[in-house]
Amino acid sequence: MLHHFRRKLSWPKRRARLVYYSSAFFFVFGITSAWAMSEEEFGKLLLPGKITVTNPFLDSCDSKRECGRVFKLLHAGIDYRARIPTEVRSPVSGTIVKLRSGNKEYEPLKDQAGSITVEVAGKEKPMYFFFVHMSKSFVKVGDKIKAGCIIGLTGKKGTIFPHLHVEYKEMRGRKNIRPTPSLKTIADIKNRGNISPVEAVKNKPLPIASDQKCG
Ligand SMILES: [Zn+2]
Repeated sequence: MLHHFRRKLSWPKRRARLVYYSSAFFFVFGITSAWAMSEEEFGKLLLPGKITVTNPFLDSCDSKRECGRVFKLLHAGIDYRARIPTEVRSPVSGTIVKLRSGNKEYEPLKDQAGSITVEVAGKEKPMYFFFVHMSKSFVKVGDKIKAGCIIGLTGKKGTIFPHLHVEYKEMRGRKNIRPTPSLKTIADIKNRGNISPVEAVKNKPLPIASDQKCG
């Protein structure tokens, strides 16, 4: 039976089928592998050396029990272990719209940092990347930056353990551009437009790392 089936197709047809199915396979595989960037892989766009996620992005849980258990771990961004000072690259091109230190905003200044906010041009809603706990900024408000350049140095401003917190948010307006201050519920993350920074770069061209400071 199998023998009979095999003999039915001529060689050119069999070859055409093979090309067709294998190209479909690579097409699908290529797309899914681009979707499946891990937080560690995303970290390589930002930081040099070994990448360790100390606290992942968390906005979902499946059961009431699980949601109760993870309550305190709700996290609007991704934390990466980073010695001070480590150079931080922007994974996207955009405009620096805000620099923030503790409760003070110091838009015109470089050299001090807390958080650095990059606005990414979007057709519908403004999109923001936040780099938090920084010790130094190489950029100032208004700077246009190219993906892959160094925006500043890691620190521990506003935290005990040195790490880089990277957060992403989509907003309707530009009021109160700042990282999410505190989260009580999963709805908080969603209402504030937070999605994983990894999701946010999904359809964007990946940066070529440069050794250049952005400013
Ligand atoms: Zn964090």
